[in-house]
Amino acid sequence: MKKTAGRSKPAQPKAAPRSMARSNASREATAGPVGNGQTAPAPKTAGAPRAGRGGPRIGVLALQGDVIEHIKMLQGIGAEAVEVRTPEDLARVDALIIPGGESTTIGKLAVEYGLDRAIPSRVKEGMPVYGTCAGMIALSKEAQNGEPPLLRLMNITVRRNAYGRQVDSFETDLNVPALGSPPLHAVFIRAPVIEHVGADVDVLASLGGKPVLARQANILVSAFHPELTADDRVHRYFVDMLNRKN
Ligand code: GLN
Repeated sequence: MKKTAGRSKPAQPKAAPRSMARSNASREATAGPVGNGQTAPAPKTAGAPRAGRGGPRIGVLALQGDVIEHIKMLQGIGAEAVEVRTPEDLARVDALIIPGGESTTIGKLAVEYGLDRAIPSRVKEGMPVYGTCAGMIALSKEAQNGEPPLLRLMNITVRRNAYGRQVDSFETDLNVPALGSPPLHAVFIRAPVIEHVGADVDVLASLGGKPVLARQANILVSAFHPELTADDRVHRYFVDMLNRKN
């Protein structure tokens, strides 16, 4: 089964059964990096650059949500992308993306797998982490409108489903000075907003006076889904956070 259509056509984040996400993504992810002179299976995605040995290895939290879309976006910019489901998986990555989906499900499963302790401990050591939508909720210190289990790593208060229900999902162009021009096309799906930010948080983009893209040191969050568009600038910005750290 191929899901590449999700890149060009915005869609509800895939909340597919975990077994399905697992088989698809592990198939994609096993193409792996290849060194000189080695043979390896042909890449599934034509033209996607591969990371060389020693390139960044970015984990995507694969408990629930639009995991595959992030993996494809990362592979497209030459990073090695792997699924993270356990603390052992987490120990093998240099950075982590927490995808969109359903923050209650992601939060509960993170507790069940022991990632509610493992992720904060890596992030406090400096590992870059990026949360999109439900992932942003998971990283926040406080959530309104129903609080799922949170990692409480970023000094923001979010309000869930702030723009309304599924039918109120929308797309818009955002001015993001840190990414230059053109404006960033952003897909909002049952999105949260950031209601309060701490003094240590940099707001990178706002919509209607509310922050929707923000950073606190090694933590990046967006209320929207760059992985559902063809624009990879937010993912490049995130990988750059990792490169600058080293
Ligand atoms: N509404 C979802 C939540 O509160 C987030 C939606 C999304 O990630 N697109 O968890």
